[in-house]
Amino acid sequence: MEGPTNCNRACVYCDVHKRKNTVRFSTVAESLRQVDWAYDEGFLFFQYVGGEPLAGCQFDGGVRPGRYQMCLNGANLMYEDFTEKLTSFTTEEGKTYVDHALEIIGYASRLGMFTNVITNGDFLDNTYYLSRLKKARLDFLTFSLHSPTEAGIRSIIGKARATANAGIIPTVSVVFTADRADIIPKVAKTCAANGIFFSTSIVQEIGDGFSTVPEKSNIPTLEQIEKVARELEPLRKSGFLVNGWNYFVKAMDSNGSRWKCDPTQDQFIHIRAQGEKGELGVCSEMRTGLDTGVSLKSKEWRERKEGAVDGCPGCLYSCYFRCQNPDFRGDSQTLMPMVLIKSGHSGLARKLGRRTIKDPSEIISVPQSELEKSQSWLKNYDRLHNRLKRKGKDLIDIASAPFVLAAVLATYVFVSLAARRKGISQDKVNEYMLMSIVYGGIVELGKDEKNDEMSDSRS
Ligand code: SF4
Ligand code: SF4
Repeated sequence: MEGPTNCNRACVYCDVHKRKNTVRFSTVAESLRQVDWAYDEGFLFFQYVGGEPLAGCQFDGGVRPGRYQMCLNGANLMYEDFTEKLTSFTTEEGKTYVDHALEIIGYASRLGMFTNVITNGDFLDNTYYLSRLKKARLDFLTFSLHSPTEAGIRSIIGKARATANAGIIPTVSVVFTADRADIIPKVAKTCAANGIFFSTSIVQEIGDGFSTVPEKSNIPTLEQIEKVARELEPLRKSGFLVNGWNYFVKAMDSNGSRWKCDPTQDQFIHIRAQGEKGELGVCSEMRTGLDTGVSLKSKEWRERKEGAVDGCPGCLYSCYFRCQNPDFRGDSQTLMPMVLIKSGHSGLARKLGRRTIKDPSEIISVPQSELEKSQSWLKNYDRLHNRLKRKGKDLIDIASAPFVLAAVLATYVFVSLAARRKGISQDKVNEYMLMSIVYGGIVELGKDEKNDEMSDSRS
């Protein structure tokens, strides 16, 4: 699903951000009905893109590259490279893009779909955003890397590592252009060494959908594709390469541009969340002119789809290719690191990835990011808070001991006097009091153990 399309960047190969203000974007409620339609049609993987879906604040004033910007809501955001003046990222309903996206993602997750958001990562600079994504039960977060400089790579990988620490599976994805052929293997290896998934997709120049038609083509040459494929091959077994190997085989066969999806099948579908019922495309490039009122079993849909694919020059988008050409062997290798991250063992996933890199000079070292520092600070704070709470409880227990003793003695005296009036022997009273204390102690002990178990499972 493609949500509101405004973006803080203006990448040369992308047309999406130019579609702002030309249409009425769907409200949250309308978008949810479109998700329902996709779910009812049998789709179980929900991928959400913008514009920038995590754009989270409105800015007031101009842009100063490399500087912190103050949002109207008080948050600080830092950017690396601006290519256009920021405008507001608020929907017609008055929600920020991130709030809008989180409601839709949360809903799709609750329906039982796997969820993925594609972001440029610029807005993800505090743990608050990560915790909200986690709360929406987001499964995957894909960072598209658009500044392949060392600083840009460090920034994205630091954020992706923090994402893994939060139990969300991160992927760094790079559009493969001719001028990036040398850097792509280095980015892929750096990702693996940091326990992060990597994917790449050869730039497409179809126009109108996601891609643009530049004056000078930036599609990599066959030699460049072969060189990158050769360098990525050792990563296949690591499980951190998301592209199935058959994608590279096809790319090497076809000079990177001509594959046609099968119009008789519907493994993927594209919804532009516009108006009440959205607008359906075969993919992000080819529109059908139909909306979510149609059934995918209908003749009308099939004919429109076949017509759209027929008129398409072909593509080599890795996501669509992968949907129709799964590489089961390769894909199964990604399972282990995914399970480790999902189960809260991102450190183990990192160890697994590091084993595949023999020569440290092949990768870029990435120091702890601000986001990770905040995470470890919060973890220490939580630990300290819990310890203090426990100590405080112990102190209260000690301070209350004399009162408890006095209450026990008073009860003993009271019960003894009452028993004497009824002719019950003092021995019976003593036995009863002893049993009460022992039994009460066992019950209290049980409660403590239960509380401990509960607090352990919560933490
Ligand atoms: S590719 Fe992504 S980050 Fe770049 S302009 Fe398009 S939507 Fe924005
Ligand atoms: S070949 Fe299929 S997936 Fe690729 S751009 Fe054309 S219609 Fe879309």
